Amino acid sequence: MEDAVARGAALVDRCRVERVQIEGGRASGVWAVRGGKRQFLPADLVVAAAGGLGSPVILARSGLRWEQRLFVDPVLCVAGRREATGPRGEISMPFVVQQDSFILSPYFDYLSYFFNRGWRRPGSSVISLMVKLADSGEGASLPGESAKS
Ligand SMILES: Cc1cc2nc3c(=O)[nH]c(=O)nc-3n(C[C@H](O)[C@H](O)[C@H](O)COP(=O)(O)OP(=O)(O)OC[C@H]3O[C@@H](n4cnc5c(N)ncnc54)[C@H](O)[C@@H]3O)c2cc1C
Repeated sequence: MEDAVARGAALVDRCRVERVQIEGGRASGVWAVRGGKRQFLPADLVVAAAGGLGSPVILARSGLRWEQRLFVDPVLCVAGRREATGPRGEISMPFVVQQDSFILSPYFDYLSYFFNRGWRRPGSSVISLMVKLADSGEGASLPGESAKS
């Protein structure tokens, strides 16, 4: 981003894009709300990069073709105690066991560890394995839409 700005790009932050403006079959900019005001931001090129939840909404509002294939893989960590061997220094996910519908990998869930007071024993005494289940890509980020409908 810094490189782009140094080369003359204008950075417009703190705004929510509503839709892409199409003129003559080409994207000519976006309509966005910034500081409570709707404004048109002209652009030579528009890249929809609002994430898996945001991009389909913008494309649908713009009348552009989009495919609804949202998946959300549930993740949990199974942890147990072990003999403490010193400070925690494990590499996260050093390897992955991949199956058709899930993966297993050594992974310490720091976020849960910090949020759950009851878990706050020395991290070095915890060994943890991540279980990530594969969702099917049939979900929807827009109400009333799904890949099956
Ligand atoms: C809890 C969690 C853990 C994850 N862990 C991992 C991991 O370990 N490894 C891994 O590879 N991936 C992981 N992921 C996935 C990874 O975060 C995403 O794949 C990646 O962030 C997608 O990047 P993106 O730029 O497409 O979208 P995002 O990172 O979602 O960025 C989209 C941006 O667009 C903005 N936006 C949305 N709508 C609008 C709008 N209308 N106008 C303007 N801006 C808008 C959003 O605010 C956001 O800043 C994780 C995701 C989550 C939620």
